[in-house]
Amino acid sequence: MSKMEDTTKETKNLGIDFTVEPVPCSTMPLKYDDSLCIGCNRCASVCQCDILLPSPEKGKHPLVVYPGECYYCGACVMVCPKPGAIKLSHPLMNRAKFVPVRRPEQE
Ligand code: SF4
Ligand code: SF4
Repeated sequence: MSKMEDTTKETKNLGIDFTVEPVPCSTMPLKYDDSLCIGCNRCASVCQCDILLPSPEKGKHPLVVYPGECYYCGACVMVCPKPGAIKLSHPLMNRAKFVPVRRPEQE
């Protein structure tokens, strides 16, 4: 039997210590680059869906607690002072492009 990964994190928000467990989701809307992120938490403070919580580790990117609640507004990417530190990863079905249909009589 495989050992289940412990995803719980101790964190502090508004001066309160608590434990969070990211809610499992088939999509992960955000990709962080640890080499660029400075852990300023601006992305967490601007998210209107509150899916992010500041990391308990200073200088690390926020925790994505409710990935399924993201509506891909892009505010977190736009507010980030370090280009490339955070990227949006849209679900596959949202990446489809609609192209005009050419009927044979139009050619
Ligand atoms: S894209 Fe919008 S909803 Fe999703 S995490 Fe960023 S700010 Fe929040
Ligand atoms: S705003 Fe950018 S640099 Fe700041 S914590 Fe978020 S990803 Fe990292």
